[in-house]
Amino acid sequence: MNPKQALEFSKDQHCEIVDLKFSDILGMWQHFSIPVSELDENAFDAGIGFDGSSIRGWQAIHASDMLVVPDPNTAVLDPFTEVATLSLICDIVDPVTREAYSRDPRNIARKAADYLNNTGIGDVAYFGPEAEFFILDDVRYEQNQQCGYYFIDSIEGQWNTGREEWPNLGYKPRYKEGYFPVPPTDSLQDIRSEMVLTLEKLGYRVEAHHHEVATAGQGEIDMRYLAIQEMGDGLMWYKYVIKNVARRHGKTVTFMPKPVFQDNGTGMHVHQSLWKEGKPLFAGDGYAGLSPLAVHYIAGILKHAPALAAFTNPTTNSYRRLVPGFEAPINLAYSSRNRSAAVRIPMYQTNPESKRIEVRFPDPSCNGYLAFSAMLMAGLDGIQSRLEVGDPLDKDIYSMSREELAEVPSTPSSLEEALEALRNDHEFLLKGDVFTEDVVETWIDYKMENEVSAVRLRPHPYEFTLYFDA
Ligand code: GLN
Ligand code: MG
Ligand code: MG
Ligand code: MG
Repeated sequence: MNPKQALEFSKDQHCEIVDLKFSDILGMWQHFSIPVSELDENAFDAGIGFDGSSIRGWQAIHASDMLVVPDPNTAVLDPFTEVATLSLICDIVDPVTREAYSRDPRNIARKAADYLNNTGIGDVAYFGPEAEFFILDDVRYEQNQQCGYYFIDSIEGQWNTGREEWPNLGYKPRYKEGYFPVPPTDSLQDIRSEMVLTLEKLGYRVEAHHHEVATAGQGEIDMRYLAIQEMGDGLMWYKYVIKNVARRHGKTVTFMPKPVFQDNGTGMHVHQSLWKEGKPLFAGDGYAGLSPLAVHYIAGILKHAPALAAFTNPTTNSYRRLVPGFEAPINLAYSSRNRSAAVRIPMYQTNPESKRIEVRFPDPSCNGYLAFSAMLMAGLDGIQSRLEVGDPLDKDIYSMSREELAEVPSTPSSLEEALEALRNDHEFLLKGDVFTEDVVETWIDYKMENEVSAVRLRPHPYEFTLYFDA
């Protein structure tokens, strides 16, 4: 859509309000609204002013005026407002220089796509995230003055019923047995279906939805792959739709990676492939039907994985998921069969168009724009440096001996470690000015201060169990 078409669409839908959405650096949508009379064709060019200093991780107060510039291609009817509302996703622009703001995640994703083109390696990178989530009844968590919200189960790991109801009507899945019995054990079928239909109304193609392995209402909805910035937008809509549909049903959703102790965590496997002039570049006749280029891409991902984790697994909670025994990858290896490897090559499709790799360590607490961009940059670095990988790990990594495992590098064990890895390894992100030194530094400083230290300084609830009577 161009501005004119977006305005016509708004008229056809009888919109009275225009909602302007943009992602902050952490990947949360922020928004403000204007009456439809305030939006004309010129606004798509000139932008609309707002105060950027109150947005986490953005401008300092002395340079706080910013512009949102709506992208007419993103015009849709917001499915959750009672007043007919035109929704537009916006880019952030500096009002003085008129330059795209370097800390705007959507801008970083656009630059990553441009960089891919400029390398001549390919013209489009497709991303297909499988973001999982928990749909919860409100009673499942409590608030504690010291610690904020926490899950009762996360503390003691007592057996949990998966959902609260009175009287107890039974059919509660046990830990790690949520995948995937029919209703009444799966009590969330209709809610997930409503989420899928809402995503389809917004123009997203959905391939499947299902209950996931964890007991406490874990689910997954799979959107069809899209190019990098489009899927960045897609993941924002995905979270918005899932949270808001759940809300309509009196439920809560969390995308945090490990909400429940001793049950499966919440991952976001990311399927990726490169294309040029309509041809898939990852298909070939090497291992698992891969091309040499795809193998270099994998090598880039594995080499930079510890630094990538700072973007793909960007919370302190992310590292409670990356432990053995819960289908989350620990070891930086690749395999066609092995779901315990960090990179898997799915084998159920045989046509070259579906050839892709699945990166399994990311989780949905990430900012999609940044996580997809960082992975693309790592893969491209692998291709440009013709990086090689060792043999695939076609055995169950979880059952390997200590000595065997010592050979395989692993994912970082804390956010601090990942941020440290990023500090030491980020040249590959700076190519083509995709990430800037300022973005990397801002990210590390923000995460260290507001998350790593903030968590470290608080007494953990379980410390009372361990030490109160010490
Ligand atoms: N929840 C698992 C994870 O943490 C993935 C389970 C699956 O999709 N097979 O990655
Ligand atoms: Mg899946
Ligand atoms: Mg899954
Ligand atoms: Mg998967």
